[in-house]
Amino acid sequence: MAALTDVIYLDNNATSKVAPEVVEAMMPAFTALYGNASSMHTFGGQMSHDISRGREQVAQLLNAHPEEIIFTSCGTEADNSAWYSATETQPEKRHLITTKVEHSAVLAYGHYFEDKGYEVTWLGVDSQGRIDLDELERAIRPDTALVSMMYANNETGTVFPIEKVAQIVKSHGVQLHVDAVQAVGKEVIDLQKLPIDYLALSGHKLHAPKGIGVLYLRRGTRFRPYLKGGHQERGRRAGTENVPYIIGLGKACELAGANIEDERTRVAALRDRLQQGLLAAIPNCKVNGDQEHRLPNTLNISFEAVEGEALLLQLDQYHICASSGSACTSGSLEPSHVLRAMGVPFNFAHGSVRFSLSRYNTREEIERVIEVMPGIVRYLREISPFASFLKK
Ligand code: PLP
Repeated sequence: MAALTDVIYLDNNATSKVAPEVVEAMMPAFTALYGNASSMHTFGGQMSHDISRGREQVAQLLNAHPEEIIFTSCGTEADNSAWYSATETQPEKRHLITTKVEHSAVLAYGHYFEDKGYEVTWLGVDSQGRIDLDELERAIRPDTALVSMMYANNETGTVFPIEKVAQIVKSHGVQLHVDAVQAVGKEVIDLQKLPIDYLALSGHKLHAPKGIGVLYLRRGTRFRPYLKGGHQERGRRAGTENVPYIIGLGKACELAGANIEDERTRVAALRDRLQQGLLAAIPNCKVNGDQEHRLPNTLNISFEAVEGEALLLQLDQYHICASSGSACTSGSLEPSHVLRAMGVPFNFAHGSVRFSLSRYNTREEIERVIEVMPGIVRYLREISPFASFLKK
């Protein structure tokens, strides 16, 4: 089968295109410079310079110190490592707090800890996907080991008030982990101002390759490594360093940081045009998530009495890529756990589509989506068993 490359790609919260500059930066480490950074010889040793540079580039984007950056294999590993460390270093504390709308990288780990006998408080959200800060404060107890909360939701783009969350959590002396996988590169994050203990990011969401992530670990936070073995990453994450991907992630962070404000404005304008165009052209649809505090690239929109999966298949005919629910849960016909936690009614939740843009999208692409969507929704409603739900 011929590769399909000429697509309108609006699925950047699932994964993003590797930036050409990133590919270029990585190439020498795949070809001529393939040494092991831990080797005694000069040939391998020169790779440790590239690792340091990558670490500095990541730290700069977050306004962190380079030694606070630990490279991991992905965002999931960074999330799991934070939970592991917080619980291992405070064995007497058996209570954890998180939310019902986390990514499965956190949700599944929370359930795992429940199975181990921990008590987990699952904070709910309102109809716009917002948490209640008073509820968070009331949930904190003397035996709370960790509060774990996402910076921005992968499905709706809703941005949590992490600054206020951090103030509350730290005023109780509790550790805070933030899953910022969807936020890094899209939001301006300054870790000198945010008293977070652990933060997770993932390369493939910000135009670096899949298979590289970072656990930010604040200086002074006690730590127990999740992967045990060699002394890489100052003994905090064993395993031979993935030098090409570290170089790539560093470059991706540099690119993201260089243009973050301009890109946010440009991408948000495209997203807003898409939202406005769809709402104007299609009856019985509504936007999901907090429209005031939302990632600039994300639009989650529900079309009443339509199956989201059917919509995606129709869009696919036009080579338009989007998602329904999160990438990890699509494939199941259950409405997403995020929309369920928000109380989105069944006949809307089933017809939700997530469009997630990037710096590579153009106005022409957005206009094309606005052009084809009304016909697709009309067709699907004609054949829908849920059509009787529609208010005439
Ligand atoms: N956290 C969030 C919010 C995500 O959106 C994702 C991926 O979609 C992850 C964690 C997991 O990241 P990775 O795919 O790098 O394991």
